[in-house]
Amino acid sequence: MVDSFGRKIDYLRMSLTGRCQQRCTYCARESGGKCVKDSELSAEDFIFTASVFASLGFRKIRLTGGEPLLRRDILQIIKGISETGVYEDTALTTNGLELAKLCLPMKEAGLKRINISLDSTDPEIYKKITGADLAPVLEGLYKAIEVFDKVKINAVLLKNINSNPDGLFKIAENYPVTVRFIELMPMGGKGRGVTADEILARYPELRPLQGGDEHSPERLYTAVGYKGKIGFISPVSRSFCSGCNRMRLTWDGKLRPCLGDELEIDAAEAIIKKDSEALTSLIEKAIEMKPEKNSFGTDFNAVRPMNAIGG
Ligand code: SAM
Repeated sequence: MVDSFGRKIDYLRMSLTGRCQQRCTYCARESGGKCVKDSELSAEDFIFTASVFASLGFRKIRLTGGEPLLRRDILQIIKGISETGVYEDTALTTNGLELAKLCLPMKEAGLKRINISLDSTDPEIYKKITGADLAPVLEGLYKAIEVFDKVKINAVLLKNINSNPDGLFKIAENYPVTVRFIELMPMGGKGRGVTADEILARYPELRPLQGGDEHSPERLYTAVGYKGKIGFISPVSRSFCSGCNRMRLTWDGKLRPCLGDELEIDAAEAIIKKDSEALTSLIEKAIEMKPEKNSFGTDFNAVRPMNAIGG
């Protein structure tokens, strides 16, 4: 489907839950954005929604949250989506805490790629940011490298907290992993972000890579001797809105056309009733209303924090 600004929209990001074991300072707010388990869509709801999006030409899907691996029915959801037979790319973003034991079953259920959020390789700094232990996340990461062909790490760097990413660079040097630095977005959390230029200045050995997915917002680099890559995603300072192909579904059934805009369209009733005609027209409406640009350049600060929308 094509939106009002001529962009082809074919990438669905589905948040399976707003619940998360972590409380990352930049992602979650103490108050607001609470997820009530009873309001979460069911596995059948997500599979139905994915199939309706597929009938509208969507070919790429990412499962996120909250923490998607907190869903006990995660394998059922992945399998159901994969059985639609149309998604060329089924991916998932996780904090990694429950990943080690789920890697292989998720791959067998049809998952193609995995992104793991890892802001520091220092256990104390990691705990300070997330409130969680690092060891199970590293265990999950190494297992994912064994099981999946494509593994990416997402890191958000904050000034005076985890501004030194040497440990993350070591992972890109030693493993075939893309470590991506995501610029801090004003999504209801706290902290001052480190810019891509500040990171690049620290590693003069990095060389830009050409090519790749034209819709991907990441700028990729590598260095001599590296098995992996370094990527930068800068939605605030280098917005990629003109090539944006995304639509979001929140865990409670709201269509959100843009992360950096409060517009949400309630599709929960159509989804729960499995009314494909009603859901199709709501998706068409959401695509038509997708803003030209995010509002990050203004004084935007999301009402629903990131964990409650779906990152
Ligand atoms: N719980 C999963 C995880 O930790 O990966 C999935 C959800 S989390 C909201 C998805 C991604 O959003 C994480 O990589 C996280 O670092 C990123 N994120 C959260 N808040 C952000 C913010 N304010 N700015 C930039 N990235 C953010």
